[in-house]
Amino acid sequence: MEMNTPRWEATNHYLEEVFGRLHADDPLSLLDQEARAAGLPDISIGPVVGRLLMMLTSMTPGRLAVEVGTLGGYSAIWIARGLSADGRLITIEKDPAHADFAVTQFHRAQLQDRIELRQGAALDLLPRIATEVGDASIDLLFLDADKTEYPAYWEIARPLIAPGGLALLDNALGSGEWWIDAHGHPAREAADQANRMIASDPDFQTVAFPLRQGLLVARRMW
Ligand code: SAH
Ligand code: MG
Repeated sequence: MEMNTPRWEATNHYLEEVFGRLHADDPLSLLDQEARAAGLPDISIGPVVGRLLMMLTSMTPGRLAVEVGTLGGYSAIWIARGLSADGRLITIEKDPAHADFAVTQFHRAQLQDRIELRQGAALDLLPRIATEVGDASIDLLFLDADKTEYPAYWEIARPLIAPGGLALLDNALGSGEWWIDAHGHPAREAADQANRMIASDPDFQTVAFPLRQGLLVARRMW
C-alpha cells in the first residue's frame, strides 16, 4: 500500500496516541496549554519526536547539549531529561517573549540549573558558544530555528560535535509552509542543502526519519 496524505495523517495520529502519551501532571502538558494561551506558535516537536530526542540524548554521554531555537522550551525539556546527572543544555532563542516563557517553564520543570537560555540571534551567539565550549565538546546538537540558516548553523557547529556525538535537525523534510518534494521555498532549498551536505559528510553517519516533519540524525564517527 502506498503512503498518501490521509494515511500520513492517520499514521501520525496513531504514533501520538500510542507513543506520545504524557501524564496529565507532566510539566510538558501544562507547557503546551500555556503556550497556546500565550499565543506562541503551535510548532513544537510534539511528544513523539520529543521522546526520541530524550532517548537519543541518553544514548550519548549527555554532558553537553546545544539547541538552536527554543520557542517555549518544549524540546529543551525533553533533551534535558536525557542528559546525564551533571549534564547541561545551552539553548538559543531570538524572540524575547519566547525566551521569557521558556525560562518560566524550565523553573517549573525544576530544570533551571540544567538549562541555560541565551537570548539572541543564533548566528551571533553560536560563534561565541563555539569559543566557549571548544571543538569536539557537544554530545547532542539540535537545530530547529530559522531553516534558511541551517547550512550556516551547521558550518559553525559541526566542529563542536564530539566523536560519537549526535546532530539532530528538525524540519528536515518540511514545515507548515513547504515540503521537501516541492522546489521554490527558500527554507526548503536551505533544508535540502543542509540534508545533502550532512549526508555526504564522510565524518558522519546520517539517517533521516519521516516522523512528523522529518528529523535528520547524524553521528560523528569515532
Ligand atoms: N525547538 C522548539 C521549536 C522551535 S520553533 C520545540 O520544538 O519546542 C523555532 C524558534 O526559533 C522560534 O521560537 C523562533 O523565534 C526561533 N528563531 C528563529 N530564528 C532564530 C534565530 N535566527 N536565532 C535564534 N532563534 C531563532
Ligand atoms: Mg521544528
